[in-house]
Amino acid sequence: MTLARPFDDGPLWIANPLGITTGTEASGEPAADARGGIVVDGGRIVELVAHGATPVTPGAAARRFDASRHVVTPGFVNTHHHFSQTLTRAWGPVANAPLFPWLQRLYPVWARLDERSLRLAVDVALAELLLSGCTTAADHHYVFPDGLEHGIDIEVEAVRAMGMRATLTRGSMTLGEKDGGLPPQSTVQDHEVILEDSRRVIEAYHERGDGAQIQIALAPCSPFSVTRELMSDTAELAREQDVRLHTHLGETIDEERFCLEMFGQRPVDYLESVGWLSDRSWLGHGIHFSDDEIARLGAAGTGVAHCPSSNMRLASGSARVLELEAAGSPVGIGVDGSASNDRSSIIVEARQALLLQRLQYGADVPVERALGWATSGSAAVLGRRDIGRIEVGAQADLALFTLDDLRFSGAHDPVAALLLCGAEKADRVMVAGRWRVVDGRVEGLDVEQLIAHHSEAARRLVNG
Ligand SMILES: [Zn+2]
Repeated sequence: MTLARPFDDGPLWIANPLGITTGTEASGEPAADARGGIVVDGGRIVELVAHGATPVTPGAAARRFDASRHVVTPGFVNTHHHFSQTLTRAWGPVANAPLFPWLQRLYPVWARLDERSLRLAVDVALAELLLSGCTTAADHHYVFPDGLEHGIDIEVEAVRAMGMRATLTRGSMTLGEKDGGLPPQSTVQDHEVILEDSRRVIEAYHERGDGAQIQIALAPCSPFSVTRELMSDTAELAREQDVRLHTHLGETIDEERFCLEMFGQRPVDYLESVGWLSDRSWLGHGIHFSDDEIARLGAAGTGVAHCPSSNMRLASGSARVLELEAAGSPVGIGVDGSASNDRSSIIVEARQALLLQRLQYGADVPVERALGWATSGSAAVLGRRDIGRIEVGAQADLALFTLDDLRFSGAHDPVAALLLCGAEKADRVMVAGRWRVVDGRVEGLDVEQLIAHHSEAARRLVNG
């Protein structure tokens, strides 16, 4: 399903919500009154309706969705994931391991991925994200064994079928064990093959401008799995093609030690030396930075995907989110995936971010700020201003949550309740003006059948 075709349904008034957040309350931008709801038309938000008012958009009052049971948020944006890892969730041998041994045990399993298992993994990750209120997802796919040369093409097809938006990153690994890297030799690719395929997928799929459904970014996996030359050449290609850059950085102390031994540099110095310290780049995790490094990342406008569940699960540490933002770095949320979280719920991840950052900075970190990271903040990390916010002109990407479950009973502030009571599932989700989740179910998707096929593929993958 392409989002680009014209919508002729006419304006729709999402009327008088129980609660609403624009995704920008904590950003210092002037607050708009949308308590009377939102009018969407042609795939965009065309009007915000003030408390007690009716829409002025012709025809909107006649086509009305009663949102009086719903808390309305911008569609959430996920900035870091590995969809394929849904096949290796809660796997016994790595259930209690930190990052490096966790990776070393998993690389050979991931090397057995094929087209069918990848498609099932992507479908599961996307459906789970969509059901949690996510409308735009980034994925970092970096395992391309023989037979999976078209991994990105498979992801594009899956995103279109799900009717979501995505920034799909063409990942890569070139630094195998024999050259001092972490991944086994069988999982690394040739430098030229990677650059050629990167160019191919950008030309085939990357959409520019407002309303883009598919964007491509380039993503060498991490300092310990690619060569310095690949980092530099990828940055050069990204500049030439005007696409974004993504990698893992500052995730663990082991990584820092690796960079010092292998390159004689700390991770941020290394990043700068390969031409990545810019507002074109965003980093997965971004935990182990000194004050000076945070200032440099902020001055450059380099973004950070904060992945609280994964960071706690692998005991990696906690990103210094408020300091990164104060320095100038956009910060978004990543569920990470999916063998280190091991779920793909963006709304749960926003709660985790709130709780972890409160543990770090104090109880006055506002709920709206965490909702902002997962919406407008994440959008900024992906270089977008047309999504992740409720304002006139923005894309009509929305998530609607009901507060009917036992866990919300007695809750007073409906927006705060989403994170403080722990919302898990959206009742309705809209992408580009079209409902993709209705009554808690993805339109046109047989979830039970997907679970059956995906579970079988997961069993086969780990059993070799
Ligand atoms: Zn990751």
